[in-house]
Amino acid sequence: MKVCKFGGSSMASGETIKRVASIIRADADRKYIVVSAPGKRFAKDIKITDSLLNAYAESRKGTPLKSLLAPIRERFEGIAKDLGVEEKINLSAIFTEIEQGIAASPIPDFAAAQGERLSAMMLAAYLGFAFVDAREIVRFADNGQFNAEYTNDIARKYLSKKEGGVVIPGFYGSTSGGQIRTFSRGGSDVTGAIIARAVKADIYENWTDVNGFLTADPRIVENPKPIPELSYRELRELSYMGANVLHPESIFPVRKANIPINIKNTFEPENPGTMILPGVLHHDRLITGIAGKKGFVSILIEKSMMNNEIGFTRKLLSVLENLNMSFEHLPSGIDTMTLILADTEIGGKMQELVGGIREAVSPDRVEIQSDLALIATVGHGMAYKPGTASRLFTALSRVGVNIKMIDQGSSELNIIVAVSGEDYEKAINAIYEEFIN
Ligand code: ADP
Ligand code: ASP
Ligand code: MG
Repeated sequence: MKVCKFGGSSMASGETIKRVASIIRADADRKYIVVSAPGKRFAKDIKITDSLLNAYAESRKGTPLKSLLAPIRERFEGIAKDLGVEEKINLSAIFTEIEQGIAASPIPDFAAAQGERLSAMMLAAYLGFAFVDAREIVRFADNGQFNAEYTNDIARKYLSKKEGGVVIPGFYGSTSGGQIRTFSRGGSDVTGAIIARAVKADIYENWTDVNGFLTADPRIVENPKPIPELSYRELRELSYMGANVLHPESIFPVRKANIPINIKNTFEPENPGTMILPGVLHHDRLITGIAGKKGFVSILIEKSMMNNEIGFTRKLLSVLENLNMSFEHLPSGIDTMTLILADTEIGGKMQELVGGIREAVSPDRVEIQSDLALIATVGHGMAYKPGTASRLFTALSRVGVNIKMIDQGSSELNIIVAVSGEDYEKAINAIYEEFIN
């Protein structure tokens, strides 16, 4: 039996939802369906989730909700009409309830979740499947933390009582008190993985708009080659490092149950896509893929005799802990240590951070560099082949890209380099040319 998750581009319009339905109907094992909110129909289109979050934010500034929700309602009316399910779904009542819910909500999560909820209702009505609201089966703690084990228990019990196909909205769940909570953006992938684990699926099919996991971001590299097979660990590295075709947290539930993930293209269903499997698969393949993201800052901390100072790192990291910040990398030299953090972690608190560092470890020098990008070159094969790092560095120097930091984990599953943000695209293309093309 299969769990299938369909992403935003697959659910974008009545026409694409009909494609989704025909994929589901083509295989009786496709019984548990998880869906995203309608995404973009064309490049400049707005995702429903973005419109809902915008409606929440603007309503807080005084704009009437009815006018903010009108275009969202129109889009769903269009979909309902295309699918011929207008009679089955009372959009007028649902939007009154959404308006009241958003007005009463102290956090944006309720608003954000409504796209997935309606999208699932539409598909369920069209297919004649049961609609199961994620609030019944996906549980968050009051602080917003996802409760994995409790969710697994209740989802398993709840779904085992259902006969026939079900459609479940992705992205959200609720606290035990009934408050709606969402995962981070792209989180419908996580819901799909949770349901796959709960029902002990044979496979988790993740349907999107590309022919599987590609060796690089297709928005940066022209026509990158697909990756036919990927290990769980390679997936985790690549998705965490920015290959956002799959949410980086979707690996955890399926890993617990050893369920393979198959990434497939809704718009080319016969393409085999990518299979993601436990264990190391291809020692002979040097590089599996390249991923990266922009928006990092490095803070170089220099102090003579740092190396002899017992407790230096602990004192430094306690500054981050007190500010509730997590760091990405911490490469060190003899008398230097460099913290690499995402801009989003620092928020507006750079001054507090540097002040805290000065107070905690009395450095001789602190130097900040902003606008950095991190690029990960990932593959199990690297551990077996000397000279990979030197090829990588040569490829970057050939195109004039200066490397600001290097981090190779001892697992030799990846090499991560930091480059200036403006060199990001050039660097990814150079690495792609060197190893993949
Ligand atoms: P969905 O709405 O189906 O969840 P997403 O937009 O979240 O789809 O993810 C698919 C997109 O991820 C692709 O259209 C592509 O632009 C982007 N992407 C980035 N890196 C990769 C990669 N390595 N392989 C495939 N797609 C990638
Ligand atoms: N609709 C949500 C988002 O845009 C979740 C998802 O699509 O996975 O982030
Ligand atoms: Mg996605």
